[in-house]
Formats: sequence, structure tokens, C-alpha cells
Amino acid sequence: MYLNRRNFIKTISAASLGTLIPNIAVASFMKPIKSKKLKLSFRTYDLQLKHTFTVAEYSRDTTPVVLTELEYDGIIGYGEASMPPYLGESHKSVTSFLSKVNLAQFNDPFRIDDILTYVDSVDKKNRAAKASIDIALHDLMGKIVNQPLYKLWGLNPEETPVTSFTIGIDKPDVVRMKTKEAKGFKVLKVKLGRGNDKEMINSVREITDVPLYVDVNQGWQNKEEALEMIHWLKEKGVIFVEQPLPKENIDDMAWLTQNSPLPTMADEAFQRLSDIVAFKDVYSGINIKLMKSTGLREAHKMITVARALDMKVMMGCMTETSCAVSAAAQLSPLVDWADLDGNLLISNDVYEGVKVINGKITLNNLPGIGIRKL
Ligand code: MG
Repeated sequence: MYLNRRNFIKTISAASLGTLIPNIAVASFMKPIKSKKLKLSFRTYDLQLKHTFTVAEYSRDTTPVVLTELEYDGIIGYGEASMPPYLGESHKSVTSFLSKVNLAQFNDPFRIDDILTYVDSVDKKNRAAKASIDIALHDLMGKIVNQPLYKLWGLNPEETPVTSFTIGIDKPDVVRMKTKEAKGFKVLKVKLGRGNDKEMINSVREITDVPLYVDVNQGWQNKEEALEMIHWLKEKGVIFVEQPLPKENIDDMAWLTQNSPLPTMADEAFQRLSDIVAFKDVYSGINIKLMKSTGLREAHKMITVARALDMKVMMGCMTETSCAVSAAAQLSPLVDWADLDGNLLISNDVYEGVKVINGKITLNNLPGIGIRKL
């Protein structure tokens, strides 16, 4: 109360001072306002994976990304698009989209809704490209007010989840080696769906008894066999099963979710906010990734809608630098489970950002998405 009154008196005094010294007031009024526009720049980059990454559908050693920078009044926000092959985006499609976007028409970076609604309208597709602008814009906004995003959203940094570390499909000796390397993570995510599921889980269990998440990447075909496997997985300490059946098998998936002893999570089956309602009784929850959701703005809304539908929420990622991973981590106090290890799977990161400490996502006090260039 006292402080408020004191501030009020200070304000009045400053105003009075202005009227007493008219020259100063006029001088500042007459000063031309510097033109401030958003300026987008970008470059292509290839992430090198530490291990060949194998899931039910394919194997690969690199991931193409595009790194964006959004400048306003000398302050730069960082963003990123990551394009794993199954999403259908590439260096070419992303740079072509970004070349079409005219952000110079905006002179207020806080008009995030206006700016991102425009960006979304430029083309129907290009979700990762859109995310690269959304992330850079949020980073910029945080840097202008000098606050981390989680603070601007009112989130408690103590409530970040542990993150899983992903073990790809491989031979038992490689799986055991990767599991040993993942010592320090409180939960692991095991990829299944290539016919050696029990061997995969048993190899991991020879090394550790931490809880497991399982991601089948649409690799199971038969719902009864899937249910039987889920019962077996539950006995092995698995917490949930991600994308067990092909995304088109909606009816089978609804049956499986109804009968499953573990939560089922949608990943490949859905992308954006408008997809969620239709999946309420098909999956127990959703895996939100910024490269699918077009970035933080829509991801935040998706969490709210999923909660309203009483669905579980996990936050995932692609193989990404610390840029996109740190951006997703800003929302992580709101989710049940996180799989934010994309930056840990690469050997040529260009930023440093949020860290995994004792298995837990640990936010820092850097403004915006919480990163600096290496
Ligand atoms: Mg997945």
C-alpha cells in the first residue's frame, strides 16, 4: 500500500517536472520514432546423430533442420524447424515457405496472434517451417521483456517432469550398450514394432529397472495381439504405449484403448489443435510436438483442450538442437510426461539451453526460450 502510494507520488512528481521544463518535454516529443520491423533470416543445417536411429518404419544418421533468426530493434530471437522424413518437409520446402513469408509488415512483435495467424495462412502445410517462426517470435518476446517464457506463462519451474531417453530398435548387445549409456535417466522410451519387441524389452531389463515408455510407431497390425503385448509390457514396468496401431485404424484403436491396462498415446495419428476432439475416446492422450503443432502458441492451446477432455498429455520432440527442445521445455511444467531428448541424440548442437539434471528437465533464467549460441 505504502509502496503504491510512494510510486504514485513519484509519478506525479515526474509529470510535474515535465511541465516545469518544457524544453525537455518538447525535445523528446519531437524526436522521430525509429522504424522497427521484424526481420527474418534462416539457414539450412544437418544434425548428425550419435547413433543410427531406427524405428518401425526406417533408419537414418542425419536430420535436416533450418535455423531461423528473427530480429527486432537489435534483439534476436532464435527458432528452428526440424524435418524428419516422415513429416514430408525438407530443406527445400521450409526455405521456400520462409521466403514467402513477409514479416516486415509487422512492427510490434507482441502481436503474436496477428503475426502467427498470418504465417499460418501463407500455406496449408509447412508445420515445421511455421514452428521455426513461432519459436523465434516467442524467444524474441521473452528477450525484449527479459524474462523466460515459463515465467510469462505463470508456470512453476519446479514442476518440470523427468524426461525419457530413447532407445532405438537394435540388436540386443547394442540395446544393452545404449541402456548403459542412458544411466542417469529416470525413465527410458523404448522403440518397438519390428517383430523383436520382447527381445528389446528383455535386453533393457537386463541393465535397468527404471520405468519405461514404449513407442510402437504404428508397428503393430492386430488389435488382439497388441492387447496381449500391452498386458505383457505392463508386467515389465511400462507406463504407457505410444501409437501402437497404424494411424488409420481408428475403430481398432478405440477398442484397444477401451481394453488396455495402460494409457495409449497418439503421435503420428494427429498433428494440430483441431485434431484433438475426434480422438477423445480413441486414445488416452496425445504426444504434442512443436514441429507438428506449428509451435508454442498452438501447443499451449492443445494442452488446455486436452485437459478439458480429460486426456493425458506428453511433450515430445524430433531430433532437434537445444533451440526447439528448450522451447518445448518452457511448457513442460504443464504435461504428464516428457520425451525431450532430441538435442541429446545429436553430436553437433549449435546452442546450449535447458539441461537434464538427475533425469529432470531443468529450466534456467535466460530470457525467452532459455538458450545461448555455442
Ligand atoms: Mg512417437
